[in-house]
Amino acid sequence: TMSCLTAIDAGDTLNAFVHRTPEIALEQARAADARLKAGDAPSMCGIPLGIKDLFCTKGVPSQAASNILKGFRPEYESTVTSKLFGAGAVMLGKLNMDEFAMGSSNETSCYGNAVSPWQRKGSNVQLTPGGSSGGSAAAVAADLCLAATGTDTGGSIRQPAAFTGIVGIKPTYGRVSRWGVVAFASSLDQAGPMTKSVRDAAIMLQAMAGHDPKDSTSADLAVPDFEAALTGDIRGKVIGIPKEYRMDGMPEEIDALWARGIEMLRDAGAEVRDISLPHTKYALPAYYVIAPAEASSNLARYDGVRYGHRAKLSHGDGVTEMYEKTRAEGFGPEVQRRIMVGTYVLSAGFYDAYYNRARKVRALIKRDFETVFAEGIDSILTPATPSAAFGLGEMADVDPVKMYLNDVFTVTVNLAGLPGISVPVGLDHQGLPLGLQLIGRPWEEGALLNYAHVLE
Ligand code: GLN
Repeated sequence: TMSCLTAIDAGDTLNAFVHRTPEIALEQARAADARLKAGDAPSMCGIPLGIKDLFCTKGVPSQAASNILKGFRPEYESTVTSKLFGAGAVMLGKLNMDEFAMGSSNETSCYGNAVSPWQRKGSNVQLTPGGSSGGSAAAVAADLCLAATGTDTGGSIRQPAAFTGIVGIKPTYGRVSRWGVVAFASSLDQAGPMTKSVRDAAIMLQAMAGHDPKDSTSADLAVPDFEAALTGDIRGKVIGIPKEYRMDGMPEEIDALWARGIEMLRDAGAEVRDISLPHTKYALPAYYVIAPAEASSNLARYDGVRYGHRAKLSHGDGVTEMYEKTRAEGFGPEVQRRIMVGTYVLSAGFYDAYYNRARKVRALIKRDFETVFAEGIDSILTPATPSAAFGLGEMADVDPVKMYLNDVFTVTVNLAGLPGISVPVGLDHQGLPLGLQLIGRPWEEGALLNYAHVLE
């Protein structure tokens, strides 16, 4: 804990930590020491973590990287953070992210972007750590903390993990409680660990997971021992390679990486089979209808009355002006865009054409996966991202749709509610990390972590 605090103080030029909590960290570290001395060693005892700003942490600023939540200090602790602290973990502070987790580069944050600790060989162009959990990825990759929490609605754990050479797992929808996590798109959001190794991910997920009566979508299922699943034995398992993920214009290096992953799994005794997930191409458009629709509904609560920021009003302003001015000042441009898209696709005249259609597509995408799992596929291997990390400013403000294309391999997993993991498998020709994604059967995070372990 001390060395992380020193590292953060000395060198958080990455803008990863946006609120530091050294007093809390030291108090928790002392308590962890005392537990150890008393012979009680819970799984996360004394492990210094960074917490994404999307998690409500009691008495500590929790702003979801938005100006509209400026000054918000929750009266309560999210289920995930209270479980982690109960297991002995230490909080170093809150981590940067895209505003309300909307983005793929951490550039929509009210704190300014986080920066990746990686650079292209021979270049000092600053790169994105990915998003939305960009601060989490940068902090773990730069050794400012041992691990971090992330959340993933359409790829926000897996893409930043891939961009920074770390491990990130999005669990099955319902495995981890969403209570106390600021909502983006409630039917897609899941929290998960971002760590330096698959073993760390297994241990941390174990501590985060489990049924929570305070989240009605949390599953009432026992949490298996994920670490015990890391046997490295995958003989006879069947890994599917979906042809729809082989996209035109994909860099050759991503193809080569994928081939290398296939080889590694085969060498470990798995059978590799070509499969088809025919509705893949509709996933991104369906996601960018469903996620904004749910977001527009979730964000309606930020009205200047209950939380955070309220605009200064002029004489004669009524409640409508108060809402309008507060929301215009508090929400950044990407969040405003999502609200506009969301309310549009949910409006009476367009509901069937967009929202209902997207829901039908979502059902078909889910069925694609169910079909291949029923045919004996145990896990699916794909690239995690269509490229290595891009430069800051390279995509932002150019064209929002270009940014959305980054999520092409990850959103299917959220739409289907499945577990997905990103694992670093080598570097590109510029020395940047690349990641592969493994997709698992529902509730089989243990097996999924084990396949990922083989690729480490
Ligand atoms: N990049 C995607 C989006 O902007 C996913 C974000 C996320 O998973 N939170 O919606």
